[in-house]
Parts: sequence; structure tokens; C-alpha cells
Amino acid sequence: MLGLMQSQNLSIASLIDFAEKHHADTEIISRRVEGDIHRSDWATIAKRSRQVANAIDGWKVAQGERIATLAWNGYRHLEIYFGVSGSGRVLHTLNPRLHPEQIAWIVNHAEDHVLCFDMTFLPIVQNIHVHCPTVKHWVALCDADKLPADTGIPNLVSYESWIQSQPPTYAWPDLDENTASCMCYTSGTTGNPKAALYSHRSTLLHAYACALPDVMCLSARDSVLPVVPMFHVNAWGIPYSAAMVGCKLVFPGAALDGKSVYELLESEQVTLAAGVPTVWQMLLGHLKAGNLRFNHLKRTVIGGSACPPAMIQAFNDDYNVEVLHAWGMTELSPLGTLCTLKNKHLALPQDEQMKIRLKQGRAIYGIDFKIVDDQGVEQPHDGKAYGDLLVKGPWVVREYYKQEGGSPLVDGWFPTGDVATVDPEGFMQITDRSKDVIKSGGEWISSIDVENIAMAHPEVAMAACIGMAHPKWDERPIVVVVKRPDTALAREDLLKFYEGKIAKWQIPDDVVFVDAIPLGATGKMLKTRLREQLADYKLPA
Ligand code: AMP
Repeated sequence: MLGLMQSQNLSIASLIDFAEKHHADTEIISRRVEGDIHRSDWATIAKRSRQVANAIDGWKVAQGERIATLAWNGYRHLEIYFGVSGSGRVLHTLNPRLHPEQIAWIVNHAEDHVLCFDMTFLPIVQNIHVHCPTVKHWVALCDADKLPADTGIPNLVSYESWIQSQPPTYAWPDLDENTASCMCYTSGTTGNPKAALYSHRSTLLHAYACALPDVMCLSARDSVLPVVPMFHVNAWGIPYSAAMVGCKLVFPGAALDGKSVYELLESEQVTLAAGVPTVWQMLLGHLKAGNLRFNHLKRTVIGGSACPPAMIQAFNDDYNVEVLHAWGMTELSPLGTLCTLKNKHLALPQDEQMKIRLKQGRAIYGIDFKIVDDQGVEQPHDGKAYGDLLVKGPWVVREYYKQEGGSPLVDGWFPTGDVATVDPEGFMQITDRSKDVIKSGGEWISSIDVENIAMAHPEVAMAACIGMAHPKWDERPIVVVVKRPDTALAREDLLKFYEGKIAKWQIPDDVVFVDAIPLGATGKMLKTRLREQLADYKLPA
């Protein structure tokens, strides 16, 4: 027997309609790349997102086509979020921190039809546009009079002139809730970047979960500042959850330094902020130097890489701000776990509470996880046994876009590449990473790319790239090299060889010359052994 309730597709368009209807005058604030502060509200965002949808229709972009953005967090990006997905196209957020060649590769793989970019990224677009034949239209996110006359980019329009004459009404299509809504490439896997392709259903369920009290606890009384970029897994889903609860949004644009973020936190009375540890380090440094305090901030979500204990302590003890340590992945939309205490923990002494807060947290309803050993045998939740962390749930990928890399699932579970323990209370703690990639300041560096470039140098016989712990960036890559016989390769020469081949911040911090790199039985480099050998190694200051 079927239930007798109304059946309605979960849709991203319904979020913006709801925000417009019930939270029309709730503000959306953006620091623009021009430097000024722009003030909008949910009603205006809704109206302009419908203008975006009409403008896309005007270009006869078919349903399911990809529309890419190369943009900071701001109101125009938010309008594109709703206009693109709401009208049945797929929003593809690009990471501007990648090397232009990597960006062009991703644009081609996704076969993007339109690409919208902030003016900060004009040089990238000027560099890649000739290599991106699928892109038929380029949109600069600016006023018509801010668009330089001769950019060399054909079919380029300013965003404002593109949407200004479009009607503010639009009949959102009634899409099957499993329709693709947005995509995000991750370099956190071996081989080429792969795309997670989200659906309206997965995005909506994730948005509900995100707002729950033991997750971000979002409400119409909050003012929320996502420092986490809208190009990185949709700013952890905050734009969607924000529309769902009708909270105020504050976008920092390109200014992520401590002073700029602090100014916005105070002037816009921000109650919740979210970002990777590196950003908070800059903010805390600014507060300390100026002997400042927070007058409004209550909670901060920190994730993307492990949050250092000193940071949790500083927010908690010095500034009375609760840290919500979160773990997730692009493949998980991205939230998997979040660390909030249970009632029984509140009576514990501070140092006992701190031990819990350091963990990546408890599963959010919707996400199921388990830890397994090499043979796939499930490990106990005793806080000691560790194993590969596997997850499943309605906002976890089933496969990558274009089935890249084949099915990633193991008996229906997605292997995260993280190694973890789980305590009897269900708190998960990441202890290691089994995947062969390095995370620096919340962004991935492919060890394979770093090794391939070194191997292309005529004086290198073998190269291994490994991550080393770093106080600011969490991890930094170094490359361990065996020279070809009778060559005199110098450290500086090899580092110079990287220039222009990968993004600057992906270039290794150091070259370590060794006589041999340990190999396993199948000839694979044994990086665990290599790390042990370099246990006393110190990164250059
Ligand atoms: P991404 O897909 O770029 O969001 O990266 C996901 C990966 O970042 C995870 O698989 C972890 O390796 C790492 N990560 C994310 N959050 C945390 C955290 N709180 N602690 C440790 N590692 C994390």
C-alpha cells in the first residue's frame, strides 16, 4: 500500500522561491572584487536568478548542459547557483587556484557551454579561451562599463548587460529530483581530476542535514559568513541551507586576509563562519596582534583538513567561540561528520571535552560509515582499532562523471581514502590518509604530477613526492630524488624546472637527494617506508 501524501520533486528552485516568499528582506552582503560592500536581499537574488535563467534560455542552452563559474563568493555567483540549476542546467564550479592548463583540461572534460568569471580571473580566461572549444559564451561578472574594450575573448559579455533586459519572471521546470544539478571536480584522487555530479535530491537532503542543530544549527536568526569558497563543494552546501532557513549571508569575495574577514564579521554581526584552518589562522593572528575580540561570532565550522588543537583552544578559551570540527569530501557533497558534544559530555572537565572536540565527529543522519582492515573486515568502535573509512548515503557519489576511473564503490560503500578510528560513542577520528595526494591549505596537490615533472628532467632517475607536516599549510610536498649517474643536479635547478608547469603553490618546498627510493615487491615506491626514513627531516624555514 502506498502512502497518501503529496509527491513533490525536491528542487533547488524551490529553495530560492521559499527564501523570496518568507525571507524577502533578509540581507545578502558581498565584498566585491571592486573593493566595495554590496547589499542585496533574498527577494532581489531570487528575481535576478530568474533573469539568469531567461538569459540562458536566450542562448538556447539545452537541459543538462554545463555552465561553469570561476568566481569568488558573492551575490552574482549565488544568483547563478539558482538560475543555472533551477532552470535544469548543471552548475560547474571551477577552482581558480589550479594551473590554467588544469582548468582548461577540466573545462574540456566537462564540456562546459558557458563560463562566467570574476574580473580577477580575466588573465586565466585570456590564457585558456583558445583551448576551450566547447565554451560558446563567456560572461564577465561585472557591470557593462567595467568590461575592458579589448580582452581578445570572443563572445564575451558583462553579466549585468546579459541579464538586465531579461524578464524577472520564470516558470521553473518541474525536474525529476534525480536530475543533475551541479558538479565539482576533485583532485583528491589518483589520476586525472574526477567530477562528483550532484542531483537536486542529493543537494536538498544535504541542505536539510547541514542545518540540523547538531550540525551547523542554522536558523533565520543567523548571519553566516562562508569563507569556504563557493567553488569548493558549493561552500559546504551553505548557500542552499541558507535559503532553506532564510538566514543572512555575508560573502567575503577575494579578501580572505585576517583584517578583511574580521571587519565583515563585526560589521555584519556574523554569528557563524565556516572555512579551512589556514584562513582561521590568519584571522586569529589579526585578533591577537590588535588585541581584538568578537562581539557577535558564536560558532565556527572548521574542516577540509584537521583542525589543530591550539586553534580549537584559542577560539574556545580566548574568544568564547565554539569550534565545530567537520569532516567531509567533494564526493560527499561534502559533509560526513561534525563534532558536537552529547549531553553526557557537558559535565566533563574542559580537557576531557577538548579530547572529544579534536575528533572529526559523529555521523550526520543520512551518512553511514564503517572502518575496515585490509581484508575488508569491519573494525570495532573502541577508539583504538583503525581502518579504512567507508561511507554511504544519499549524498555520496555512486560513480564519477563519465564513469571516470570505473565504479569507486566496494560492496556499495565509498572508500574515502582516509584512515580512522571510531570510539564507542561514535566519534570518528582521522588518523592517516591512504590516498596518495597531499593537502596544502585545504587544496589538493597530486603527488603524481609532482613526480612526473621531476621525472621529465634529464638528470632525474627516480622521484617520489610525499607530504610533510607544516604548521600553517597542514602539509607541504617535498620531492625525493635519485639522480642519474654522473650528473650534478642541484636543488634550485629542479625547483626552477617546476615553474610554469604547475601552479606556484603546488611546487615542492624542497628536494631531498637519496641514493635509492625503497620499492615493494611489485616495483611500487614504498612511501610509508620513505616517510619512516625521513622521520627526522625538517622542512626549510
Ligand atoms: P575535498 O574533497 O577536497 O573536500 O577533500 C576531502 C579530504 O580532505 C578528506 O578525504 C580528508 O582527507 C581531508 N579532510 C577533510 N576534512 C578533514 C578534517 N576535518 N580532518 C582531517 N582531514 C580532513
